[in-house]
Amino acid sequence: MRAAIRTTCAYCGVGCGIAATPNPDGAGERTVAIRGDEAHPANQGRLCSKGTHLGETVALTGRLLTPMIGDRRASWDKALDLVARRFADTIARHGPDSVAFYVSGQLLTEDYYVANKLMKGFIGSANIDTNSRLCMSSAVAGHMRAFGEDVVPASYEDLELADLVVLVGSNTAWCHPIVYQRIQAARAARGAKLVVIDPRRTETCEGADLHLALRPGSDVALMKGLLAWLAAENALDREYLARHVEVPEGFWEELEATADLWTTAKTCDLDPQALLRFFELFRDNPRTVTVFSQGINQSIRGTDQVNAILNVHLATGRIGKPGAAPFSITGQPNAMGGREVGGLASTLASHMDFAPENVARVGRFWAAPQMATKPGLKAVDLFRAMGEGRIKAVWIMATNPAVSLPDAGRVREALAKCPFVVVSDVIAETDTGAHAHVRLPAAAWGEKDGTVTNSERVVSRQRRFMVLPGEAMPDWWIIKEVGRRMGWKGEFAYDHPADIWREHARLTAYQNDGPANGGRVLNLAGKAAIGNQAYEDMEPFRWGNCPDDRGPFADGQFSTPSGKARMVPVVQMALQDPLRDWPLTLNTGRYRDQWHTMTRTGLAPKLARHREEPLVEVNPGDAEVMGLGSGDLARVSTPQGESLFRVALSDGQRPGEIFTPIHWTDQTSTGGRTGLLPRPLVDPHSGQPGFKSTPARLARV
Ligand code: SF4
Repeated sequence: MRAAIRTTCAYCGVGCGIAATPNPDGAGERTVAIRGDEAHPANQGRLCSKGTHLGETVALTGRLLTPMIGDRRASWDKALDLVARRFADTIARHGPDSVAFYVSGQLLTEDYYVANKLMKGFIGSANIDTNSRLCMSSAVAGHMRAFGEDVVPASYEDLELADLVVLVGSNTAWCHPIVYQRIQAARAARGAKLVVIDPRRTETCEGADLHLALRPGSDVALMKGLLAWLAAENALDREYLARHVEVPEGFWEELEATADLWTTAKTCDLDPQALLRFFELFRDNPRTVTVFSQGINQSIRGTDQVNAILNVHLATGRIGKPGAAPFSITGQPNAMGGREVGGLASTLASHMDFAPENVARVGRFWAAPQMATKPGLKAVDLFRAMGEGRIKAVWIMATNPAVSLPDAGRVREALAKCPFVVVSDVIAETDTGAHAHVRLPAAAWGEKDGTVTNSERVVSRQRRFMVLPGEAMPDWWIIKEVGRRMGWKGEFAYDHPADIWREHARLTAYQNDGPANGGRVLNLAGKAAIGNQAYEDMEPFRWGNCPDDRGPFADGQFSTPSGKARMVPVVQMALQDPLRDWPLTLNTGRYRDQWHTMTRTGLAPKLARHREEPLVEVNPGDAEVMGLGSGDLARVSTPQGESLFRVALSDGQRPGEIFTPIHWTDQTSTGGRTGLLPRPLVDPHSGQPGFKSTPARLARV
């Protein structure tokens, strides 16, 4: 039996280390035994159900194994020449902003870096966005506003050192299972308190000290109420505020006028006594970590919701200290790596924005012929522009927007209209690939080499342990070959992912070199000169620790021009009463054992047992009024679309609210098509869509 190869899980942003043993006991070429990597700091040997069954997902079932032009096989040369020529022609005729890339948190950092460099430095547009826009872009915008840099100032160890863990808008037990296990193990050992703030009573609430089932969308009111109460209780850290935080004029007066306990309880539809208990727990436990996830981010006021949480932590000095931090946990395996290289249309590279000095700095570093000078189109706007004929060529990498974007029916119409659609993917038949003029076969997990960054800023290697099947190639190779064919041979002369890593690491150091930036936390200078073998052997490491090994901001220095963090005034959005024609509110999310559109988890039969089909979860009282019983088929309709689901009664649902899962597609089901239902409304700062509260109705079929 071959030795185990240490790699990183293909799924969520927890970023668990895996020991993969290919061909165990001579079982065959594409077999692998999986166990948790005891030496990895994220999971210390643990794996959740998805990670445990990864070995069942590496067969070639459904794989795209050759380049395809239309329905015909093509050579790599022919396919790449065509992609380069069509992009160049489109740019020549309509300008750089007529083309776009839409990429993914499934890409490795090296893939992301090359795509970002090609679009922003050489094509000259920032029309490169990522499906991470749907996941955590509100956290990015919130961090930038408060800290001056997109830094998550927490680690999983902080969860174990905290006396109070607050989980907001996060079904951690299902969506980040190893984080949840670490929290529960620490609670058992140390007796820390756990508060869950979520409209739904999920498995995460089991065993919690308190569950606040607040009204959807009222998180700003809740956090403002907490801050106002702490101020009235004299429980703020006035010294920290004075030394390390900028507070806008009128901030406290507005807070005092709008956020007393009773008003907060009413706005959030919560029992005032339960709310007071939470406030007291917060006051009495300075070691607090507030974990937030999609329930906060996926809102049309997601950025304000993020800053409402950050405000509380800044005002109480609960940041940069062991066991005290706000903690955005990330959905995808490499959403954080994408953020580091500037994979979002709204960021440049190495945590920089589009300030002219940053554009000039990156332009010099890349020797770029035409730098993008302003942010590009964010995901929802990008596909809207495509529907309006403004995007004339698009390259979609490792993601399936025809399923995952809100109002997915309109996204399909946009793709159908787009003159040139390229899809590079692992899977042959996807809802998005059905619209592609060219499909390019990408290497899958276990076949490609590179790095990922998890939610706690730990960079880990994903390592190859299987041969590339058919003609599949790594994403970075495909992108750089197109760049070379567009005329930038020397600038995209990468032979190995380590070449790209070194350039990325050098850029993070270069952007910190000089007074203009005041020094950012992201700085990989120590890894910028490593050789290929050192890259191969790279152990997981966390970036952004202070010199004395404490976390970011431990010294009270933030990445703003003044060096101080910023309190951000936030306003609770008006909450609508139910509409006559759309009396329900639709919330969407994940199942425990499935991932995205099930192209991988769907290959592991045991994972299907947890939930065999897509269910609409309905409060029993609502179901009775509508004449629905458990197991009935029902149609969920919204102004955007409709789909069938099987009814499941759940008293974890608040009255008037329903929940559906995101995983099912045209390829897997005739119903359960959640992507057709949400509104394409986005947060004004981050552009992140609000998936959590769509007006809907439900009818028996
Ligand atoms: Fe993989 Fe996430 Fe499960 Fe860890 S918690 S094994 S990273 S899916």
